[in-house]
Amino acid sequence: MGSFELKVDLDKFRQEEQERKYSYSAFFEIKPGENPLRLLPRSMKIFTEGDYLFAHRYFVHYNMFDVQGYRMIVCPTTYKDTCPICEYVSQEVDKEKVGRIRRQERFLYNVFDLVDETLKVMETGPQIYDGFTRYWLDSEWGPPKMVGIDTGCMFKIVLVPAEKSSTGWNHYDVVATPKVVDLTSKLPENWVEIVDSLESKISLVRSKEELSKLVEYYVKGISPVIEETKKREEVFEERARELEELAKQQVKGNQQLVLPKTVQVKQEAPVQQQSKVPDCFGLNFAPRDQRCKVCVYWTKCRDAFISAE
Ligand SMILES: [Zn+2]
Repeated sequence: MGSFELKVDLDKFRQEEQERKYSYSAFFEIKPGENPLRLLPRSMKIFTEGDYLFAHRYFVHYNMFDVQGYRMIVCPTTYKDTCPICEYVSQEVDKEKVGRIRRQERFLYNVFDLVDETLKVMETGPQIYDGFTRYWLDSEWGPPKMVGIDTGCMFKIVLVPAEKSSTGWNHYDVVATPKVVDLTSKLPENWVEIVDSLESKISLVRSKEELSKLVEYYVKGISPVIEETKKREEVFEERARELEELAKQQVKGNQQLVLPKTVQVKQEAPVQQQSKVPDCFGLNFAPRDQRCKVCVYWTKCRDAFISAE
């Protein structure tokens, strides 16, 4: 039965598996307790042109929108460019209000996970970066013992989770160990490419126009996703119509205030009878604010606010 001989090219399979494995970046997950790893250079330039850093530093803005794709926005100051969000933060008088959207430092590293023995990307905040920096500048440690391919030592990131830490926040320690881990035979064939692709893991910076638009949406409390904004506007419109209808009926029959069903469900506070346009009309529209939620001028105020420059 020679014609049924299996001709399977396992070498090709292995090669494709490796490509598949590294076509997306596996991220190093820091779990409570000890996380052993080997640091690698942030790029191959360290062997050719020289380099003095071990991680890519960048800036992000969190907490502007709780919408997928907008939870973390890369700040253009990463590339020494101006940033509409940072400008807004610096101009806002209410510092407490903008504190949570202020730019934050993030760092990307190439690491070799010593638990599953694979090359990964690690992303951290400044606490872990500072931990590595101490060793980078320590004459007993320094670059060869940290990122040298055959001379580097095992490091451990020790995480004490918030519920067990004395501060109530996650606490990270970076601990160097004297154990040398020679990576020469452990790295995948295409490790050079992987190491060099680290910087590309930083999400692309959005255009200035888009970032300015996002600031505007943030200030006005509008979702950056058109579909969501539309859905929300429909709800606004529906509410406005119901309230207008209600106002008409009241004028006609001088009836007691009875809210339509949908309004009753959504209502958290009773609708105030407003005969007069409020002083804040068109100036201070805030859909998250209870003051606006119960205001009959809600929709018109929003339109005035949005169209105002
Ligand atoms: Zn910024």
